[in-house]
Amino acid sequence: MIRDVDINEISDGKKYRSSDLVKIGCSDCAGCSDCCRQVEDTILLDPYDLYQLQVGIGETFDSLLLKNPSPVIELGIADGLLLPHLKVNNDKGACPFLDTAGRCSIHAYRPGFCRLYPLGRIYEDNGFKYFIQIHECPYPNKTKVKIKKWLNIDNLPQYETFTLKWHDLLEIKRKEMNNITDQSERSKYMVDFLKQFYQTPYDISRSFYEQFNERLNSDSCSFPE
Ligand code: SF4
Ligand code: SF4
Repeated sequence: MIRDVDINEISDGKKYRSSDLVKIGCSDCAGCSDCCRQVEDTILLDPYDLYQLQVGIGETFDSLLLKNPSPVIELGIADGLLLPHLKVNNDKGACPFLDTAGRCSIHAYRPGFCRLYPLGRIYEDNGFKYFIQIHECPYPNKTKVKIKKWLNIDNLPQYETFTLKWHDLLEIKRKEMNNITDQSERSKYMVDFLKQFYQTPYDISRSFYEQFNERLNSDSCSFPE
């Protein structure tokens, strides 16, 4: 989600790489689940998140969206595009994956947004850096941890490359959407985009990144090499 804020107001003013140590360690959350209880529609999902959920719990985009009696994801307009996010549990106001013990029931497969928190990303100079959102996570006496350890994502360089490509693709899609004035064409554009990158299930016996690149290469947008 794009945030139009002054980074100096929400961070310590520093930008970090994944090999840097940052003070965000919170003793494995030690009984706290605050940030999983106030999710509203903030946990946007990217195609890698959907792939991970397919691997971890065997659910596809459609099965999560149409889950009976309570869908687990829903669609919403985020920065001008129709994108999926985790759907808050209406009874509890919390993430649908938060279990009764206050733990994440899909910890190993949780979305990138959850892995990142309370870090954010700032995109600049054809890349991105991490920053600490100093007003997030109230845990006291935080300890130092390397960002790559905090994220705990297999093949982080490949994931970071995907993250940048995805960010750039969304930028292009937003611009293209802004140029479409006809409402039915706008709807078709969004539906086609969802189908291409989310709804068509990924083959979990194959690398996500290979499949994402194939879909990207077959996209009609003019994506920079
Ligand atoms: S607010 Fe901080 S300590 Fe609490 S669950 Fe979130 S990351 Fe963990
Ligand atoms: S997916 Fe897990 S870590 Fe993310 S908000 Fe839900 S319960 Fe918390």
